[in-house]
Amino acid sequence: MAGHSAGTLVNKFCTQRTAKCDPCGNKYADVVKNNTSLAVSFKFPRLKKKENIEISQNAHHLLCVAEITKVISKDPKLKTVLENTEYCVNNPKNMMALPLFAHTVYWYCLAEDIPISARAVVGSITTTYTPPPFANLPNHDFDHGKYNKEVEEALEVLKAEVKEADHSIAPAQLSASLDEMSGDMEGLLKIRGKRKGGTHLAWLDACEEKVDNWFLPYSLAHKPEERGFPKRLNKNLSRLKAAIKNLIGG
Ligand SMILES: [Zn+2]
Ligand SMILES: [Zn+2]
Repeated sequence: MAGHSAGTLVNKFCTQRTAKCDPCGNKYADVVKNNTSLAVSFKFPRLKKKENIEISQNAHHLLCVAEITKVISKDPKLKTVLENTEYCVNNPKNMMALPLFAHTVYWYCLAEDIPISARAVVGSITTTYTPPPFANLPNHDFDHGKYNKEVEEALEVLKAEVKEADHSIAPAQLSASLDEMSGDMEGLLKIRGKRKGGTHLAWLDACEEKVDNWFLPYSLAHKPEERGFPKRLNKNLSRLKAAIKNLIGG
C-alpha cells in the first residue's frame, strides 16, 4: 500500500520489499496465501473482462517497509548497531492479513451466496445481518498513510533509545524491540477494529443512519479521516457495486 519504498539490506538487517527476500527467505504474502482461517481466506471474484481472478485480502506490514527503511536502515549513526542486528521486515511477526473495504461491501451487499433468509433491508440498503468472518478488523485501504505516520513516530522513539544505549546495546535487543512493536501494532489494530462496537454494528448502524462516525472501526489510524457512508455521498449503492466489480483488482 502507501509509500512503496523498495527498502534495503544492511548486512543482515533486511527491510526489502520483495516477494521472497534474500538471504532471509521470508515471503511476506504467505500471511494471506498460506492462511486457511475463514477470516483470511474470504475472497471475492473480480468480474471484469470475464477474468477468473479472485481478490484476496492484503498482507499488511505492521512496521511498514518505507518507515523502517527511512528511520532505521538509512540512519548512518546506526551503522554499527545494524551491522550486528539480524532482522527481517517480512518475518511472520510483522505481517497481518487485512481485508479491503471492497471485501466489506462485497460481503454485505454483493455476495450471491448470501442466503435469502439472511438478507435484510436496513434503512434503504439491502444487506445482511450475518457478520463477515473478517469482522472487527480494520480495512487495509482506510487511513494507511496516517497509520504509517504513527509507526514512524514509534520508530523514532525506539531509535532515540538505541542511540542513547549506544554501544552497550545487545545485538539481539533491537530486533526484539522491533518484534515487540509489531505485536503492539497488531494489538492496536485489533482494538481499533472494535471501536463503535465493532465493524459489524457500525455497518448496520450506518445503514440506518444512526451514527456519523461509522468509519472508526474500519480505520487503521488512531485518528481516522472523516468519511461519509457510501450512500451519504449520494453515490447510489449500485454505482458503488459496479465500481467494485469493474475497478478493483490487480
Ligand atoms: Zn499495509
Ligand atoms: Zn528479509
